[in-house]
This record gives sequence, structure tokens and C-alpha cells, in this order.
Amino acid sequence: MSAPSRKSIVQTMAAHSRARHDERQAKPIQLPQEFASHVFNDGVQRQRLTKPVYKALRRTIVNGVELDAEIADIVANAMKDWALEHGATHFTHWFQPMNGLTAEKHDSFLSPTSDGRAMMEFSGKELIKGEPDASSFPSGGIRATFEARGYTAWDPTSPAFLRKTARGATLCIPTAFCSWTGEALDQKTPLLRSMQALSQHAVRLLHLLGESNVTRVVTTLGCEQEYFLVDRRFYYLRPDLVATGRTLIGAKPSKGQELEDHYFGAISERVIAYMQDLEQELWRLGIPARTRHNEVAPGQYELAPVFEEASVAADHNMLTMEVMKSVAERHGFACLLHEKPFAGVNGSGKHNNWSMSDNLGNNLLEPGNTPGENLKFMVFLTAVIRAVDLHQDLLRACVAHAGNDHRLGANEAPPAIISIYVGSQLEDAIRGLVEGTAPAKKGADKMKLGVTTLPPLPRDQSDRNRTSPFAFTGNKFEFRAVGSSQAVAHPNTLLNTLVAESLDYLASEIEKRGGKGDRREVIDALVKEVLTKHQRILFNGDNYSDEWLAEAERRGLLNLRDTPSALARFAADKNLQLFEKYHVFTPRETQSRSNVAFHTYVHRVHVEAQAAKNIAATMVMPAGIAHQERLARSIQVAQQVMPRADLKPQLDCLELVSKTVNELKRSLDRLENARAHAEAHHGTPEEHAVAFRDQVMPAMAELRQHADLLEGLVEDDLWPLPKYSEMLFLS
Ligand code: ADP
Ligand code: MG
Repeated sequence: MSAPSRKSIVQTMAAHSRARHDERQAKPIQLPQEFASHVFNDGVQRQRLTKPVYKALRRTIVNGVELDAEIADIVANAMKDWALEHGATHFTHWFQPMNGLTAEKHDSFLSPTSDGRAMMEFSGKELIKGEPDASSFPSGGIRATFEARGYTAWDPTSPAFLRKTARGATLCIPTAFCSWTGEALDQKTPLLRSMQALSQHAVRLLHLLGESNVTRVVTTLGCEQEYFLVDRRFYYLRPDLVATGRTLIGAKPSKGQELEDHYFGAISERVIAYMQDLEQELWRLGIPARTRHNEVAPGQYELAPVFEEASVAADHNMLTMEVMKSVAERHGFACLLHEKPFAGVNGSGKHNNWSMSDNLGNNLLEPGNTPGENLKFMVFLTAVIRAVDLHQDLLRACVAHAGNDHRLGANEAPPAIISIYVGSQLEDAIRGLVEGTAPAKKGADKMKLGVTTLPPLPRDQSDRNRTSPFAFTGNKFEFRAVGSSQAVAHPNTLLNTLVAESLDYLASEIEKRGGKGDRREVIDALVKEVLTKHQRILFNGDNYSDEWLAEAERRGLLNLRDTPSALARFAADKNLQLFEKYHVFTPRETQSRSNVAFHTYVHRVHVEAQAAKNIAATMVMPAGIAHQERLARSIQVAQQVMPRADLKPQLDCLELVSKTVNELKRSLDRLENARAHAEAHHGTPEEHAVAFRDQVMPAMAELRQHADLLEGLVEDDLWPLPKYSEMLFLS
């Protein structure tokens, strides 16, 4: 049986436009009882472990005390019993290698006995340490083939969970992944290290501010996940979507179709069924999904959870992306997480909402009411401003990858220039402080900033500037340049590290300068000094405007437009030293991340070039030629039956099609040459990436231009690829 054509799918969809949403009678979830029912969390641990064992485990989770072997066996056994009761047969160490995905290798609990039966076993050793064959994961040069071993190590701070499918369940144990030399081969270990660094210096600073009862600071994270849904049948007819996650050719729908009416619009029944199924699965996994809505583009949606401790939130976001894809499959959708699945249509990002919170539950970026707390706010705000200005290069580099190049630095938010939006009132306040001008008069509901020269702010001032890559939104920062498909561990690792460095700086300066009593004068002066130096990073205007480009250049801010340029600075001396000082990456680990990122860029562009070539050669060209043939035949017939008719318009059509087909063929050859040339280019990883950017990317763009022109010429029933208008508007 041959696959259904594009046309037949559209016809079936029209015929069944009513009851196409998922009809299965899903058992509605019982909330809150079923929340986290698939998680071996604190509550389950307390219930299933004896008090001494539970306490020992808590010491490991909270204070990082090593778990002794005997206790580990007991914990493993309890975990296994719980998993078996939920239908599990296998366990896996679940980790985040440097390829930006998650990895798992399943082992069953089954252990044959000597009398031919079987037992279900799981030891403490198996819980704590795994040894997957690491040779196929990227190491960026850390691991030579003769030391191909990799180890996974249980991360007890992120609870184990069950992934259930129709035929059973697997116990997933979040782990770190490292080489036998102890170097991190994953994204999780550096994130945990960076959180430790930030905590250390935030606590130091808080103690200097008089908050001596704070013992620990965590970073909090909430990721707003954007995505597209397209009907899965269309998806299968698009080899580019399947291979690369984005359409490599495809003409934009006629202007006006991408209207504002989708954003926050009513959600269709089929999509709501998907979202509900998705949320229920996430809730059972203990992921606090909270907000759902339509996004700007047709077929685009968003899901946002309640924020959590950053390491857990990062795991949860990885899991969310996996669940989004698998639930979509059940509903006949394909979930597209690529940053730019459709050229000319709004792309997808992942707003990375980030803050810091002490062990007493106080958000350190909460402006608050009382002057004491407000001074604290001002100091932490200053630390972030300094960090972002000093390390723009790192914030830019951690969101640089092939997919995100279609958003950052292109004609879409946010731009490649890193700047901070703080809102006009806060910016005025900062300027007042820096320039020593008088504070504004008080109003009704104002928040006082606790620094004598700062005016109070209206409490509800909120961010409506959607063009900024890094915005202060009430009591957190929103890093908006992160791509929708990205693993968030890496960007947060960098954010934590560079803020840790600024906290360290402020604390050290206060210590050095001394001061009397509450050190108020010293701190005020330091805040003023640092803000004066780093205020150039603040920008409240339109980040898309040409004026900003010029202004940013005047201010000396970086504008790194594409992945190779952005990555080029990642392993600079300044950064090698920064990461080493805060024990986040060793120099070799930094270098390896740089290598992996360049390599991934090359690999992705390479795959795109191959896919574009195949589609153009085997689908687009033949459609063009078939249309050419049809036109030629109809002209021939017309000439016979109407010898004196004016056939110039038809001949012009034929000529245009022939010309486009020929140009397509030429650009196909050029693309193939460019790809082969770039591939053969030997040099540093950076030079290789630059070759792909400068040779292959433009050749793909040129090919696309001719293919898209042809789409507008070829008779509709000859066109094999689902069109934008169909993928975006029919579901
Ligand atoms: P908006 O919709 O204006 O972007 P929301 O208040 O809806 O902002 O929050 C968006 C995301 O920010 C949510 O995931 C939320 O949990 C997260 N968030 C809120 N407060 C914090 C915080 N203190 N730390 C980290 N993330 C936070
Ligand atoms: Mg947001």
C-alpha cells in the first residue's frame, strides 16, 4: 500500500473535521492525590524507609554526605519494590550528555536463580554507579578511545521517576555522567557545581549584609516552553522536518494569514485534548505544569511550569520535552521543538526565568517593602547587572547553535546583542543613583529601594518589553535568548557562574573596604560605583531597531550574529580562568564544550544540506519537470485545435517554469560543491564551522529561493510536499 498523498490527507481532514481529536476515554486524573505518583520523592522515601535510613539519605541529599554501601542497598531495594508495584521491569540511569539530549540504557531487574527461576534484584551499587559504553557520546576530546569508559553517578537531589508506557514501566534514576578521570561529560554536573559556587558567594554576601542565619542559596528556574504541533501525516511527508526539525524549503502562506488572532486565542478541541493528556502525564511525574496557551504563530503553543530549584527544573524541562513528543504521537501530531520550523513565521524560544532564593525561602530579587530587604535587592540586582555586562560573550555563546541562528541576530526576537531590560522606573532610579540626582516623589503603592538616592517604584510595574533578551520581570530575570529545543542546564550553568563571580567580587570589596556598623555607606558607594561602570548594558528601548544596533556599537557591546562567531570566544583565557576559579569547568572541560558546540553546528548544517539536496532533487525538481511537461503538452494541443490563438501567456508560463527548474538544478550543484568543499576543509573546529556557515548556509538559502518560487508555479496536485498553509492551519 502506498502512503497517502498530500492531497488525500487534506481531503480526509476536511471530511472528518469534527471528531478528529483524541477519542480515547482517558481516565481523568485525581488531583492533588495523583501529583507525583510516579516519583520516588521525599514523601515516598519517608514512608518506605526506616527512620535511620531515611535520615541518612536526607543527609546525602541536603548536605552531600556520602551514602554508605549498606544504606545504599536498603534504599535501592525500597526503590525497586516501589517500582515493581507500579509495573516496572527495568531501570535506567538517566543522564544528559553533551549532545543536548537525554540518554538512557535499560537493564531489567531480572536475575536468574540456579533452580531455573528468576528474582527481581537491584543493589545499592547499581543505584549509585553505572558504566554505560560512553564511546558514542560526544566528549569534545576529553576521552580518547583507549579510555572509552564513562560512568554515571546517582544524583540523589533529583528524584527517581517512572516512565510508563502501554506495556510496562521503567525506573529512571537521574545521574551525572563523567569520564574515568572524573571530568564531566554531561550538562548536569557543571550545573550542580555552578549552583554550589553561587550559593557559597551569595551566602558570604548575605552574611556581610547582616543576614547571618542564611546557610544556603539556590537558584530557581521556570522554563516557558514554546512548541509547534503539526498533523503527523503531513510531518511524515516532509523529509526535512523528520531529518532536521525544520522545513528547508516551503513558500510562506500568502500575506495576512499569520494574523495576531492566534495569540491567546481559543484553543481547538484537538489541541486541548493533547494538552490535557500531556499535563496529566507531567503531573504524575511531579512536573508542576501550570500555564498553557496559544502562541503568536498559527500552530504554535506554550507550556509553563511553576518554577523549581534549577537542577530539578532542568531535569524536568528535559523530561517535559520528551513527554511532549511522545504524547503528540498518540494524538496524531508531531511536536516541533526546533527554534524555527517555518521560515518567515514566528519561531520558538524558551524563556528562562531565573532567580536566587535563600534557605529560608526568600527570593533575593524580590524588591520587597522594608528598606533592609531592599538594600539586599539592590545589591543582588547590581551583581546581575555587572555579571551580564562583563560576560555578554558567555551569555551569547550558551544560546548559540544552528537552530537558534534563525532567531538571534535574524529579524526576530531577541537580538544577538545581549542587554538588560529593567523597566523605565528602575532604570531612572539607577540613573538617579549614578548621577546623584534627587529621587522622585513618592506615590501611593510604591516600593522603596532602600538606597537613599533611589526613588520608590510602583509595585505592579511589569515588563511589557518583549524584545529584550534579558529582562527583569518583577522579581526574577527572564533570559529570553534560550532556544526552544535547548537543554537549559548549560545556559543556567553559565548564568550561575558569572553571577557567582560578581557576588564574590561584591563580597570581597565590602570585606576589603570595611566600614562601620551595618556598612551602609560602604555598600551604597560600592553599588553606585559598580552601576556607574556597567550601566551601558541596560537598554529599555526596541531591541529590533536599527538605532539600537548603532547605539550598542557606540556603547561597545558585542553583536555576535551567528553560532561560529558567538562560540569563538567561549574558550578565551578570561573564561577558562573564570570557570576554573569557581570549579565549574576545568580548562579541559571548557575546551571540550567548545569543541562539541562547533562540531554539533557543523553536523547539523551538514545534515540540513544533505536533506535539502535530496528533497530538491527527488521531489521538487520532478514536480517542476512534470508541470513543465503538462504545460508543453497543453500548448501543443492548443496549437493544434486553435492554430491562430495567441499562446504567448502559456509560452511565458512555460518559459518561467523551465528557467526556474534550470536555476534550481544549478543551485543544487552549487550546494553539493559547497558541502563537499566545507566538509573537506581541514582546520580547527572553529574554521570548520566557519566554512559551513560561509559556504553551505548561503547555498542552501539560494536553493530554497528557487524551490519556493517553483512552489508558486507548479500546479497544486503535482506538488508533493505539504505546504505551509496546510501544516500551519489544518489540524
Ligand atoms: P510571564 O508570563 O509574564 O512571563 P509568569 O509570572 O507567568 O511571567 O512566570 C513565567 C515563569 O516564571 C513561570 O514558569 C514561573 O514559575 C517562573 N517564575 C516565577 N517566579 C520565579 C522565580 N522566583 N524564579 C524562577 N522562576 C520564576
Ligand atoms: Mg515570559
